[in-house]
Amino acid sequence: MSDNFDVIVIGGGPAGYPAAIRAGQNKLSVACIDEWKNRDGSPAFGGTCLNAGCIPSKALLESSELLHRAQHEFASHGLKLAGLSLDLATMQKRKATIVRQSTLGILTLFKGAGVVPLQGHGRLLAGRKVEFTSHDGTKRSLQAKHVVLASGSEPMPLRGVAFDGERVVDSWGALEFSEVPKRLCVIGAGVIGLELGSVWRRLGAETVVLEALEQLLPMADGQVAKEAARHFRKLGLDIRLGAKVGGAEVRPDGVHVSYTDAKGVQSLVVDRLVVAIGRRPFTAGLLGEGTGVALDERGFIQVDEHCRTGAADVWAVGDCVRGPMLAHKGKEEGVAVADRIAGLYGEVNYRTIPSVIYTAPEIAWVGQTEEQVKASGRPYKTGSFPFAASARARAMEATAGFCKIVADAASDEILGIHVIGPMAGELIAEAVLAMEYSASSEDLQRTMHAHPTLSEAVHEAALAADKRAIDIPNR
Ligand code: FAD
Ligand code: NAD
Repeated sequence: MSDNFDVIVIGGGPAGYPAAIRAGQNKLSVACIDEWKNRDGSPAFGGTCLNAGCIPSKALLESSELLHRAQHEFASHGLKLAGLSLDLATMQKRKATIVRQSTLGILTLFKGAGVVPLQGHGRLLAGRKVEFTSHDGTKRSLQAKHVVLASGSEPMPLRGVAFDGERVVDSWGALEFSEVPKRLCVIGAGVIGLELGSVWRRLGAETVVLEALEQLLPMADGQVAKEAARHFRKLGLDIRLGAKVGGAEVRPDGVHVSYTDAKGVQSLVVDRLVVAIGRRPFTAGLLGEGTGVALDERGFIQVDEHCRTGAADVWAVGDCVRGPMLAHKGKEEGVAVADRIAGLYGEVNYRTIPSVIYTAPEIAWVGQTEEQVKASGRPYKTGSFPFAASARARAMEATAGFCKIVADAASDEILGIHVIGPMAGELIAEAVLAMEYSASSEDLQRTMHAHPTLSEAVHEAALAADKRAIDIPNR
C-alpha cells in the first residue's frame, strides 16, 4: 500500500468520515485515520456521535419514550396493558446493535468510495507528513498533499470531581448504566442533561438536574423554553436553576453533591452522578513540532471561514473548530472541505444550522429567536400555531407545543422558526430549506402542505404571521 495520499483525514467521526468519502468520490486518493476504541477494546469508526453520542442516546430516548407512552397514554387509545415491565438489558442490547450496525456501515461506505481505513493514532508533522501508529504499535510515515484534522471533542470534567466510570460518569457512562439508578443527579441542564435526564427519569430514576444559570435553555426562543420547562416538570424532572455545583464526593452511602444557590450551600446524596457541563475540543497528541497549526485560547484549532488552518493545505472541521458542536455542522464542513480540495465549490451556511433537542416534546429551531430579533432593533412579526389545533397531532395524542415563525415586518423574510412538539426535529427541515432559499413567510403560506400532517403547523404559523391562519382564530 502506498504511503502517499492526496488527502489524509485524521478523525473518523461525523466530520471526518464524510470528508474522506467525499474526497474519494472526487477521485482523490484518501486515507482516514481513527483511534476510537470501545469499552471492550474494539476499534470503531464513527467517533463520539455514532459510538457514544447521537446514535446511542437517540436509541435510548426512543425506547424510554415508548415505555412512558405505554404507561401514560395507551389507556386513552383504549389499549390496556397488563404486566408492562422494563427489561433494561434488552433495551441496552438493542442500542448496542444499532450502534454496531452504524459504525460497521462506515467501513462499507469507505470501501465504496475507495477510502483507506487506518485504525490507530494520527499525528500531523511539519510538511503534511503524518505519523500513523496502529493499535498494535506499528508506526508508518505517511505523506499527504492535504490533511483534514477532525479530532472532535471530549467531555469537560468538573474541577475536583474525577470520573470513575461507575458512580460519577460522563455522558458515555450515562448511556451504559446496567440498572436504573434510584437517585440520579445530572449536572448541567444543557442538551445532554435534558436528553439523558429524560431517559433515566422515564425509566424510573428520581432525577435532579442542577443548572448554574438562572434560565433554562437560554439559547432557545423564550416561549419555547417556557413551554419546555412546563413539560420537563410534568415528566418529574427536578430541574434546579441557579444551582452551581462546586464539588462531589463518593462515599459508601452515595455520591454527595454540593452546590450553591440563592439560599446558600446545598447538598444532595444520589446513587449516580452524571457530569454534563459541556464539551471541549480534543487535540491531545495530534500536532507535532512546526506544523504551523495554531490553537485558540480555548483549545480549538484556529481556522478561517473556509476551515483552512494557518498551515498550507491543512484544514480542520467539526467539534475541534469554532461553531456549534453538532454532527451535521461537522459533516457539512467536512464535505465542503473535500470539495474545495478537489477545486470544486464548497459552502457551509452557518446561519441555517438547525438545533434539535430530542426530548418529549421535541424542540427544534433554526435562525434567530424572537428575543434576538427584538434586540437587533429590526421590526418583526410573529405567527404561532399550537399542535392542539392540528388534527394529526390530536390523532397522535401529541398535542403539546407549537410552531412559531419570526419574520421581518417589512420584507417578510423569515428570520427564525421555532418548534416544540411532535417530530419537531423532522419539521425543522422545511424551515431550514426555506431559510436556505431566503424564503418569505408568504412563500411558506403559498406552499401546499398535505393534510392531515404535522407540517401543517408550519404552514399555519406562517399564515398566522399575517393574521391569515385558517385553523385558528387570528389575534
Ligand atoms: P468526534 O465525533 O468526536 O470524532 C472524532 C474522532 O477522531 C474520534 O473517533 C476520535 O477518537 C478520533 N481522533 C481524535 N484524535 C485523533 C488522532 N490524533 N488520531 C486518530 N484519531 C483521532 N450532535 C448532533 O448533531 N445531534 C445529536 O443528537 C447529538 N447527540 C449527542 C449526544 C451525546 C451524548 C453527545 C456526547 C454528543 C452529541 N452530539 C450530537 C454531538 C456530536 O456527537 C458531535 O458534534 C460530533 O460527534 C462531532 O463530530 P467530530 O467528527 O467533529 O468529532
Ligand atoms: P451544554 O453546553 O449544552 O450544557 C452544559 C450546561 O451545564 C450549561 O447549561 C451550563 O450552564 C451548565 N453548567 C456548567 N458548569 C456547571 C456547574 N458547575 N454547575 C451546574 N451547571 C453547570 O453542554 P452539554 O449538554 O454537555 O453538551 C455538549 C455538546 O454536545 C453541546 O455543544 C451540544 O451541542 C452537543 N449535543 C448535542 C445534542 C443534540 O444536538 N441533540 C445532544 C447532546 C449533545
